[in-house]
Amino acid sequence: YYRRSWSSESSDSVISSESGSSCYRVVLIGEHGVGKSSLANIFAGVHDSIDSDCEVLGEDTYERTLMVDGESATVILLDMWDNKREGEWIREHCMQVGDAYLIVYSITDRASFEKASELRIQLRRARQKEDIPIILVGNKSDLVRCREVSVAEGRACAVVFDCKFIETSAAVQHNVKELFEGIVRQVRLRRDSKEK
Ligand code: GDP
Ligand code: MG
Repeated sequence: YYRRSWSSESSDSVISSESGSSCYRVVLIGEHGVGKSSLANIFAGVHDSIDSDCEVLGEDTYERTLMVDGESATVILLDMWDNKREGEWIREHCMQVGDAYLIVYSITDRASFEKASELRIQLRRARQKEDIPIILVGNKSDLVRCREVSVAEGRACAVVFDCKFIETSAAVQHNVKELFEGIVRQVRLRRDSKEK
């Protein structure tokens, strides 16, 4: 999708897409196995209120236009965090190019929850002074009997992170639409407050 030759250096990287709607790069990060690709696949797949087909721009990049609050937004979703073939640079790249981040952990895996905190710190370091929209995502909420991280802990962590929080289940497609709509809203909130 680099055919549009977007500059990753651009600090103001909310760019208008060809259709004229706003276009946001959203990056999935988090421990291996927490469900990032499963969430990306739902984003890419058939989805109730999403009105257009998804374009797959390479094996781990998806583009889709969503209607959120009566306004369309094009989301480019990057799921390349675990792509080790490309080497460590891909993670540094991910840390730089996102307009917004979904930091995913599994509610059944405390280590992945702790990893999420590390990633928050890394992101803050990589993007100092920028107020980047982030949602902390506790995935696998369907696995109630294997829960290791409570909803209250997730919520409290998001307060410390200064970000939003949601629990999702990619397996039963719970809150996944809300997640992607939520991140669009978070980007818009910052955009709107900049304009004032
Ligand atoms: P990734 O490594 O973060 O991309 O994680 P994947 O999307 O590959 O998922 C890892 C494993 O967890 C797979 O076996 C998925 O089927 C499973 N998984 C992902 N999301 C959920 C979920 O919400 N609930 C349950 N029960 N399993 C999930
Ligand atoms: Mg994956």
